[in-house]
Amino acid sequence: MDQHIETKCVQAGYTPKNGEPRVLPITLSTTYKYDSSQDMAALFDLEADGYFYTRLANPTNDAVAAKIAALEGGSSAMLTSSGQAANFYAMFNIVSAGDHIVSSSAIYGGTFNLLNVTMRKMGIDVTFVEPDCTPEELESTFRENTKCVFAESISNPSLVVLDFDKFAAAADRHGVPLIVDNTFPTPVNCRPIEYGASIVTHSTTKYMDGHASTVGGAIVDSGKFDWMAHKEKFPGLTEPDPSYHGIVYAEKFGEKAFITKATAQVMRDLGSIPSPVNAFVLGLGLETLALRMERHCENARKVAEYLKANDKVTWISHPGLPGDKYYDVARKYMPDGTCGVISFGVKGGREAATKFMDSLRLAAIVTHVADARTCVLHPASTTHRQLSDQQLEEAGVAPDLIRLSVGIENADDIIADLDQALAQI
Ligand SMILES: *Cc1c(COP(=O)(O)O)cnc(C)c1O
Repeated sequence: MDQHIETKCVQAGYTPKNGEPRVLPITLSTTYKYDSSQDMAALFDLEADGYFYTRLANPTNDAVAAKIAALEGGSSAMLTSSGQAANFYAMFNIVSAGDHIVSSSAIYGGTFNLLNVTMRKMGIDVTFVEPDCTPEELESTFRENTKCVFAESISNPSLVVLDFDKFAAAADRHGVPLIVDNTFPTPVNCRPIEYGASIVTHSTTKYMDGHASTVGGAIVDSGKFDWMAHKEKFPGLTEPDPSYHGIVYAEKFGEKAFITKATAQVMRDLGSIPSPVNAFVLGLGLETLALRMERHCENARKVAEYLKANDKVTWISHPGLPGDKYYDVARKYMPDGTCGVISFGVKGGREAATKFMDSLRLAAIVTHVADARTCVLHPASTTHRQLSDQQLEEAGVAPDLIRLSVGIENADDIIADLDQALAQI
Protein backbone atom coordinates (compact mmCIF):
# COMPACT_ATOMS: atom_id res chain seq x y z
CA MET A 1 0.00 0.00 0.00
CA ASP A 2 1.16 3.51 -0.77
CA GLN A 3 2.21 5.25 2.45
CA HIS A 4 0.63 8.43 3.78
CA ILE A 5 2.37 11.74 3.22
CA GLU A 6 3.40 12.11 6.90
CA THR A 7 5.18 8.74 6.71
CA LYS A 8 6.91 9.61 3.46
CA CYS A 9 8.17 12.90 4.95
CA VAL A 10 10.01 10.91 7.61
CA GLN A 11 10.91 7.68 5.84
CA ALA A 12 11.22 8.15 2.08
CA GLY A 13 14.46 8.63 0.18
CA TYR A 14 16.98 6.89 2.40
CA THR A 15 16.86 3.30 3.62
CA PRO A 16 20.09 2.22 5.29
CA LYS A 17 21.30 -1.33 4.73
CA ASN A 18 22.56 -3.56 7.52
CA GLY A 19 25.05 -1.67 9.70
CA GLU A 20 24.85 1.60 7.77
CA PRO A 21 24.23 4.96 9.48
CA ARG A 22 20.58 5.42 10.55
CA VAL A 23 20.69 9.08 9.51
CA LEU A 24 21.48 10.08 5.92
CA PRO A 25 25.26 10.68 5.75
CA ILE A 26 26.60 13.92 4.30
CA THR A 27 28.87 12.83 1.46
CA LEU A 28 31.35 15.69 1.21
CA SER A 29 33.34 14.26 -1.64
CA THR A 30 33.58 15.84 -5.05
CA THR A 31 34.74 12.60 -6.59
CA TYR A 32 34.46 8.81 -6.40
CA LYS A 33 37.08 6.13 -6.77
CA TYR A 34 36.98 3.25 -9.30
CA ASP A 35 39.17 0.21 -9.84
CA SER A 36 39.42 0.53 -13.59
CA SER A 37 39.16 3.15 -16.30
CA GLN A 38 36.61 0.89 -17.92
CA ASP A 39 34.27 1.19 -14.91
CA MET A 40 34.45 4.94 -15.12
CA ALA A 41 34.03 5.05 -18.89
CA ALA A 42 30.69 3.24 -18.55
CA LEU A 43 29.51 5.94 -16.14
CA PHE A 44 30.55 8.71 -18.51
CA ASP A 45 28.57 7.05 -21.29
CA LEU A 46 25.47 6.81 -19.02
CA GLU A 47 25.73 3.04 -19.54
CA ALA A 48 26.02 2.27 -15.82
CA ASP A 49 24.57 3.81 -12.65
CA GLY A 50 26.99 5.30 -10.19
CA TYR A 51 28.72 8.42 -8.95
CA PHE A 52 31.70 10.06 -10.53
CA TYR A 53 31.52 13.78 -9.90
CA THR A 54 29.28 15.70 -7.48
CA ARG A 55 28.21 18.31 -10.04
CA LEU A 56 26.30 15.47 -11.72
CA ALA A 57 25.21 13.43 -8.76
CA ASN A 58 25.90 13.04 -5.05
CA PRO A 59 24.44 10.41 -2.68
CA THR A 60 23.18 12.95 -0.12
CA ASN A 61 21.56 15.15 -2.76
CA ASP A 62 20.05 12.11 -4.47
CA ALA A 63 18.48 10.76 -1.29
CA VAL A 64 16.81 14.10 -0.54
CA ALA A 65 15.65 14.41 -4.17
CA ALA A 66 14.19 10.89 -3.90
CA LYS A 67 12.24 11.94 -0.79
CA ILE A 68 10.77 14.91 -2.70
CA ALA A 69 9.92 12.68 -5.68
CA ALA A 70 8.07 10.33 -3.31
CA LEU A 71 6.18 13.21 -1.70
CA GLU A 72 5.04 14.55 -5.08
CA GLY A 73 4.30 11.09 -6.49
CA GLY A 74 6.84 11.57 -9.29
CA SER A 75 9.13 9.13 -11.07
CA SER A 76 12.35 11.03 -10.29
CA ALA A 77 13.67 14.35 -9.04
CA MET A 78 16.78 16.48 -8.85
CA LEU A 79 17.92 19.19 -6.45
CA THR A 80 19.23 22.55 -7.59
CA SER A 81 21.04 25.29 -5.69
CA SER A 82 17.98 27.60 -5.69
CA GLY A 83 14.35 27.79 -6.74
CA GLN A 84 15.40 30.11 -9.56
CA ALA A 85 17.69 27.42 -10.96
CA ALA A 86 14.92 24.82 -10.61
CA ASN A 87 12.42 26.82 -12.65
CA PHE A 88 15.01 27.78 -15.25
CA TYR A 89 16.32 24.22 -15.65
CA ALA A 90 12.82 22.74 -15.79
CA MET A 91 11.94 24.98 -18.73
CA PHE A 92 15.34 25.14 -20.41
CA ASN A 93 15.45 21.34 -20.50
CA ILE A 94 12.74 21.43 -23.20
CA VAL A 95 12.80 24.94 -24.72
CA SER A 96 15.45 26.64 -26.80
CA ALA A 97 15.91 29.74 -28.95
CA GLY A 98 12.89 30.20 -31.20
CA ASP A 99 10.49 28.48 -28.81
CA HIS A 100 7.61 29.92 -26.85
CA ILE A 101 6.23 29.49 -23.32
CA VAL A 102 2.73 30.22 -22.02
CA SER A 103 2.90 31.40 -18.40
CA SER A 104 0.42 32.52 -15.80
CA SER A 105 1.02 36.19 -14.99
CA ALA A 106 0.48 35.54 -11.27
CA ILE A 107 3.94 34.25 -10.44
CA TYR A 108 6.87 35.06 -8.20
CA GLY A 109 8.70 38.26 -9.22
CA GLY A 110 11.99 36.44 -9.78
CA THR A 111 10.37 33.94 -12.13
CA PHE A 112 8.60 36.78 -13.96
CA ASN A 113 11.98 38.45 -14.60
CA LEU A 114 13.55 35.15 -15.60
CA LEU A 115 10.88 34.68 -18.27
CA ASN A 116 10.33 38.28 -19.26
CA VAL A 117 13.94 39.48 -19.39
CA THR A 118 16.60 36.77 -19.20
CA MET A 119 14.96 34.01 -21.24
CA ARG A 120 13.85 36.55 -23.86
CA LYS A 121 17.54 37.45 -24.24
CA MET A 122 18.11 33.78 -25.08
CA GLY A 123 15.53 33.99 -27.86
CA ILE A 124 12.79 32.25 -25.87
CA ASP A 125 9.47 34.05 -26.10
CA VAL A 126 6.75 34.13 -23.45
CA THR A 127 3.08 35.08 -23.35
CA PHE A 128 1.68 35.90 -19.91
CA VAL A 129 -1.94 35.09 -19.28
CA GLU A 130 -4.22 36.07 -16.40
CA PRO A 131 -4.76 32.90 -14.33
CA ASP A 132 -8.47 33.69 -14.13
CA CYS A 133 -8.84 33.96 -17.92
CA THR A 134 -11.49 32.02 -19.82
CA PRO A 135 -10.51 28.73 -21.50
CA GLU A 136 -10.83 30.56 -24.86
CA GLU A 137 -8.41 33.29 -23.77
CA LEU A 138 -5.96 30.66 -22.59
CA GLU A 139 -6.35 28.78 -25.86
CA SER A 140 -5.54 31.92 -27.86
CA THR A 141 -2.07 32.26 -26.25
CA PHE A 142 -0.75 29.01 -27.78
CA ARG A 143 1.42 28.99 -30.87
CA GLU A 144 2.97 26.41 -33.15
CA ASN A 145 6.27 26.76 -31.22
CA THR A 146 4.79 26.65 -27.70
CA LYS A 147 6.72 24.04 -25.67
CA CYS A 148 5.31 24.28 -22.15
CA VAL A 149 2.82 25.97 -19.84
CA PHE A 150 4.04 27.41 -16.54
CA ALA A 151 2.05 28.38 -13.43
CA GLU A 152 2.20 28.40 -9.62
CA SER A 153 -0.22 26.27 -7.58
CA ILE A 154 -0.61 29.18 -5.11
CA SER A 155 1.06 32.31 -6.41
CA ASN A 156 3.59 34.31 -4.41
CA PRO A 157 2.63 36.96 -3.30
CA SER A 158 -0.81 37.36 -4.91
CA LEU A 159 -2.20 34.08 -3.44
CA VAL A 160 -4.10 33.02 -6.57
CA VAL A 161 -4.99 29.31 -6.51
CA LEU A 162 -4.43 27.66 -9.88
CA ASP A 163 -7.38 26.27 -11.82
CA PHE A 164 -5.54 23.04 -12.62
CA ASP A 165 -8.30 21.58 -14.79
CA LYS A 166 -8.27 24.57 -17.12
CA PHE A 167 -4.47 24.76 -17.44
CA ALA A 168 -3.88 21.01 -17.69
CA ALA A 169 -6.58 20.61 -20.36
CA ALA A 170 -5.05 23.39 -22.48
CA ALA A 171 -1.53 21.95 -22.17
CA ASP A 172 -2.86 18.52 -23.02
CA ARG A 173 -4.71 19.74 -26.11
CA HIS A 174 -1.47 21.22 -27.41
CA GLY A 175 0.73 18.26 -26.53
CA VAL A 176 2.99 20.16 -24.13
CA PRO A 177 3.75 19.61 -20.43
CA LEU A 178 2.24 21.73 -17.66
CA ILE A 179 5.02 22.81 -15.27
CA VAL A 180 3.76 23.81 -11.82
CA ASP A 181 5.76 25.61 -9.14
CA ASN A 182 4.32 24.04 -5.98
CA THR A 183 6.38 26.00 -3.44
CA PHE A 184 3.56 27.49 -1.33
CA PRO A 185 1.21 24.55 -0.66
CA THR A 186 4.02 21.93 -0.74
CA PRO A 187 3.13 18.30 -1.59
CA VAL A 188 1.64 17.98 1.89
CA ASN A 189 -1.31 20.12 0.77
CA CYS A 190 -1.28 19.79 -3.02
CA ARG A 191 0.15 17.25 -5.44
CA PRO A 192 -0.01 18.86 -8.91
CA ILE A 193 0.75 15.56 -10.69
CA GLU A 194 -2.65 14.26 -9.51
CA TYR A 195 -4.26 17.20 -11.32
CA GLY A 196 -2.44 16.87 -14.62
CA ALA A 197 0.93 18.60 -14.12
CA SER A 198 3.80 16.82 -15.88
CA ILE A 199 6.65 18.59 -14.08
CA VAL A 200 6.66 20.09 -10.58
CA THR A 201 9.20 22.61 -9.29
CA HIS A 202 10.03 24.00 -5.86
CA SER A 203 11.88 26.71 -4.10
CA THR A 204 12.87 24.44 -1.20
CA THR A 205 14.07 27.64 0.49
CA LYS A 206 10.53 28.14 1.78
CA TYR A 207 8.41 25.59 3.71
CA MET A 208 10.42 22.53 2.65
CA ASP A 209 13.55 23.70 4.46
CA GLY A 210 11.15 25.55 6.74
CA HIS A 211 13.70 27.24 8.98
CA ALA A 212 15.09 29.93 6.65
CA SER A 213 18.49 28.19 6.71
CA THR A 214 19.27 27.14 3.15
CA VAL A 215 18.44 28.36 -0.34
CA GLY A 216 17.56 25.50 -2.69
CA GLY A 217 15.30 24.14 -5.39
CA ALA A 218 13.93 20.90 -6.78
CA ILE A 219 12.47 19.58 -10.02
CA VAL A 220 10.17 16.54 -10.01
CA ASP A 221 9.13 14.63 -13.12
CA SER A 222 5.78 12.85 -13.14
CA GLY A 223 7.23 10.37 -15.65
CA LYS A 224 3.86 10.50 -17.37
CA PHE A 225 4.39 12.86 -20.29
CA ASP A 226 4.72 10.93 -23.55
CA TRP A 227 7.63 12.72 -25.24
CA MET A 228 7.71 10.26 -28.15
CA ALA A 229 4.05 11.03 -28.95
CA HIS A 230 5.14 14.63 -29.62
CA LYS A 231 8.49 13.73 -31.09
CA GLU A 232 8.97 16.76 -33.32
CA LYS A 233 8.30 19.23 -30.49
CA PHE A 234 10.96 17.87 -28.13
CA PRO A 235 14.00 16.88 -30.19
CA GLY A 236 16.27 17.21 -27.14
CA LEU A 237 14.53 14.19 -25.64
CA THR A 238 13.48 12.28 -28.73
CA GLU A 239 16.51 12.61 -31.03
CA PRO A 240 20.09 11.39 -30.48
CA ASP A 241 22.19 13.54 -28.11
CA PRO A 242 25.57 14.13 -29.81
CA SER A 243 27.12 14.98 -26.41
CA TYR A 244 26.35 11.40 -25.26
CA HIS A 245 27.21 9.30 -28.31
CA GLY A 246 23.72 9.49 -29.73
CA ILE A 247 21.62 8.47 -26.70
CA VAL A 248 17.88 9.14 -27.16
CA TYR A 249 16.77 10.03 -23.64
CA ALA A 250 13.06 9.25 -24.08
CA GLU A 251 13.88 5.79 -25.44
CA LYS A 252 16.71 4.82 -23.13
CA PHE A 253 15.43 6.25 -19.84
CA GLY A 254 11.64 6.01 -20.17
CA GLU A 255 9.90 7.67 -17.24
CA LYS A 256 13.22 9.03 -15.98
CA ALA A 257 14.09 10.69 -19.30
CA PHE A 258 13.37 14.28 -18.29
CA ILE A 259 15.47 14.27 -15.10
CA THR A 260 18.27 12.26 -16.72
CA LYS A 261 18.55 14.84 -19.50
CA ALA A 262 18.30 17.76 -17.04
CA THR A 263 21.17 16.22 -15.04
CA ALA A 264 23.35 14.96 -17.86
CA GLN A 265 23.06 18.09 -20.01
CA VAL A 266 21.71 21.13 -18.17
CA MET A 267 23.35 20.50 -14.79
CA ARG A 268 26.53 19.25 -16.44
CA ASP A 269 26.85 22.45 -18.45
CA LEU A 270 25.38 25.08 -16.09
CA GLY A 271 26.27 23.52 -12.74
CA SER A 272 23.86 24.92 -10.10
CA ILE A 273 24.13 22.02 -7.65
CA PRO A 274 23.40 22.43 -3.96
CA SER A 275 26.05 21.65 -1.39
CA PRO A 276 25.41 18.20 0.16
CA VAL A 277 25.41 20.03 3.52
CA ASN A 278 22.48 22.15 2.34
CA ALA A 279 20.74 19.05 1.01
CA PHE A 280 21.15 17.42 4.44
CA VAL A 281 19.59 20.45 6.16
CA LEU A 282 16.74 20.35 3.63
CA GLY A 283 16.26 16.64 4.36
CA LEU A 284 15.92 17.38 8.09
CA GLY A 285 13.34 20.07 7.33
CA LEU A 286 11.35 17.69 5.16
CA GLU A 287 10.99 15.20 8.02
CA THR A 288 8.71 17.65 9.87
CA LEU A 289 7.06 19.22 6.81
CA ALA A 290 3.65 17.61 7.31
CA LEU A 291 3.53 18.62 10.98
CA ARG A 292 4.63 22.15 10.25
CA MET A 293 2.23 22.69 7.33
CA GLU A 294 -0.69 21.66 9.48
CA ARG A 295 0.23 24.25 12.11
CA HIS A 296 1.05 26.96 9.55
CA CYS A 297 -2.40 26.53 8.00
CA GLU A 298 -4.26 26.34 11.30
CA ASN A 299 -2.50 29.47 12.59
CA ALA A 300 -3.02 31.34 9.31
CA ARG A 301 -6.72 30.60 9.43
CA LYS A 302 -7.00 31.93 13.01
CA VAL A 303 -4.93 35.01 12.17
CA ALA A 304 -6.94 35.64 9.00
CA GLU A 305 -10.20 35.44 10.93
CA TYR A 306 -8.85 37.87 13.52
CA LEU A 307 -7.70 40.32 10.82
CA LYS A 308 -10.96 40.08 8.92
CA ALA A 309 -12.87 41.12 12.05
CA ASN A 310 -10.54 44.06 12.85
CA ASP A 311 -11.91 47.42 11.70
CA LYS A 312 -8.44 48.80 10.90
CA VAL A 313 -8.02 46.09 8.26
CA THR A 314 -9.50 47.20 4.92
CA TRP A 315 -9.11 43.96 2.96
CA ILE A 316 -7.60 40.51 3.36
CA SER A 317 -6.62 37.69 1.06
CA HIS A 318 -5.96 34.11 2.18
CA PRO A 319 -7.18 31.10 0.19
CA GLY A 320 -7.89 29.11 3.37
CA LEU A 321 -10.36 31.73 4.63
CA PRO A 322 -14.05 31.04 3.88
CA GLY A 323 -15.33 33.81 1.62
CA ASP A 324 -11.95 34.34 -0.06
CA LYS A 325 -12.08 34.62 -3.86
CA TYR A 326 -10.05 31.37 -4.14
CA TYR A 327 -11.58 29.46 -1.22
CA ASP A 328 -13.63 27.11 -3.39
CA VAL A 329 -10.81 26.36 -5.85
CA ALA A 330 -8.54 25.72 -2.88
CA ARG A 331 -11.08 23.31 -1.37
CA LYS A 332 -11.06 21.40 -4.65
CA TYR A 333 -7.31 21.05 -5.17
CA MET A 334 -5.94 21.36 -1.64
CA PRO A 335 -8.71 20.16 0.69
CA ASP A 336 -6.41 19.70 3.70
CA GLY A 337 -5.01 23.24 3.70
CA THR A 338 -3.27 25.89 1.62
CA CYS A 339 -0.30 27.76 3.10
CA GLY A 340 0.51 30.14 5.92
CA VAL A 341 0.75 33.32 3.87
CA ILE A 342 -1.81 36.11 4.15
CA SER A 343 -1.91 39.50 2.45
CA PHE A 344 -3.95 42.40 3.76
CA GLY A 345 -4.28 46.16 3.83
CA VAL A 346 -4.74 48.64 6.67
CA LYS A 347 -6.63 51.93 6.88
CA GLY A 348 -4.33 54.85 6.17
CA GLY A 349 -2.40 53.28 3.25
CA ARG A 350 1.37 53.23 2.96
CA GLU A 351 2.09 55.36 6.03
CA ALA A 352 -0.15 53.33 8.33
CA ALA A 353 1.27 50.06 6.96
CA THR A 354 4.81 51.19 7.82
CA LYS A 355 3.75 52.33 11.28
CA PHE A 356 1.99 49.01 11.90
CA MET A 357 5.00 46.96 10.82
CA ASP A 358 7.49 49.00 12.83
CA SER A 359 5.34 48.39 15.89
CA LEU A 360 5.47 44.60 15.63
CA ARG A 361 7.55 42.82 18.29
CA LEU A 362 7.23 39.11 17.56
CA ALA A 363 6.78 39.23 13.78
CA ALA A 364 10.06 40.24 12.14
CA ILE A 365 10.45 42.40 9.04
CA VAL A 366 12.30 40.21 6.52
CA THR A 367 12.22 39.55 2.76
CA HIS A 368 11.74 35.85 3.34
CA VAL A 369 8.41 33.99 3.52
CA ALA A 370 7.27 30.58 4.60
CA ASP A 371 9.41 29.55 7.54
CA ALA A 372 8.79 28.65 11.17
CA ARG A 373 8.96 32.26 12.41
CA THR A 374 6.18 34.74 11.71
CA CYS A 375 7.42 37.50 9.44
CA VAL A 376 6.12 40.45 7.45
CA LEU A 377 7.07 42.43 4.38
CA HIS A 378 5.71 45.69 3.05
CA PRO A 379 6.54 45.54 -0.66
CA ALA A 380 5.66 49.22 -1.30
CA SER A 381 8.36 50.44 1.08
CA THR A 382 10.94 47.72 0.36
CA THR A 383 11.08 45.43 -2.68
CA HIS A 384 8.85 47.76 -4.76
CA ARG A 385 9.85 51.11 -3.21
CA GLN A 386 10.97 52.65 -6.51
CA LEU A 387 7.44 52.48 -7.87
CA SER A 388 4.84 55.24 -7.61
CA ASP A 389 1.45 54.38 -6.12
CA GLN A 390 0.03 54.07 -9.62
CA GLN A 391 2.83 51.77 -10.80
CA LEU A 392 2.30 49.67 -7.68
CA GLU A 393 -1.37 49.34 -8.53
CA GLU A 394 -0.45 48.18 -12.05
CA ALA A 395 1.96 45.60 -10.65
CA GLY A 396 -0.87 44.24 -8.48
CA VAL A 397 0.82 45.44 -5.29
CA ALA A 398 -1.44 47.85 -3.41
CA PRO A 399 0.48 50.58 -1.50
CA ASP A 400 -1.02 49.24 1.72
CA LEU A 401 -0.38 45.54 0.96
CA ILE A 402 1.29 43.76 3.85
CA ARG A 403 2.47 40.20 3.24
CA LEU A 404 2.28 38.24 6.47
CA SER A 405 3.88 34.82 6.68
CA VAL A 406 2.33 33.11 9.66
CA GLY A 407 4.75 30.90 11.56
CA ILE A 408 4.28 27.93 13.87
CA GLU A 409 4.33 29.82 17.17
CA ASN A 410 1.16 29.82 19.29
CA ALA A 411 -1.55 31.62 17.30
CA ASP A 412 -2.63 33.62 20.36
CA ASP A 413 0.84 35.16 20.64
CA ILE A 414 0.88 36.06 16.95
CA ILE A 415 -2.56 37.65 17.22
CA ALA A 416 -1.60 39.55 20.39
CA ASP A 417 1.39 41.01 18.54
CA LEU A 418 -0.71 42.04 15.54
CA ASP A 419 -3.32 43.48 17.89
CA GLN A 420 -0.92 45.75 19.76
CA ALA A 421 0.65 46.91 16.45
CA LEU A 422 -2.74 47.64 14.86
CA ALA A 423 -3.63 49.68 17.93
CA GLN A 424 -0.69 52.00 17.13
CA ILE A 425 -2.25 53.22 13.88
C1 LIG B 1 11.09 32.08 -3.60
C2 LIG B 1 10.41 31.52 -4.77
C3 LIG B 1 11.12 31.19 -5.92
C4 LIG B 1 12.59 31.42 -6.08
O1 LIG B 1 13.28 30.57 -5.23
P1 LIG B 1 14.75 30.85 -4.62
O2 LIG B 1 14.98 29.65 -3.79
O3 LIG B 1 14.65 32.14 -3.84
O4 LIG B 1 15.68 30.96 -5.78
C5 LIG B 1 10.42 30.60 -6.97
N1 LIG B 1 9.09 30.39 -6.90
C6 LIG B 1 8.38 30.73 -5.79
C7 LIG B 1 6.90 30.47 -5.76
C8 LIG B 1 9.00 31.29 -4.70
O5 LIG B 1 8.30 31.63 -3.61
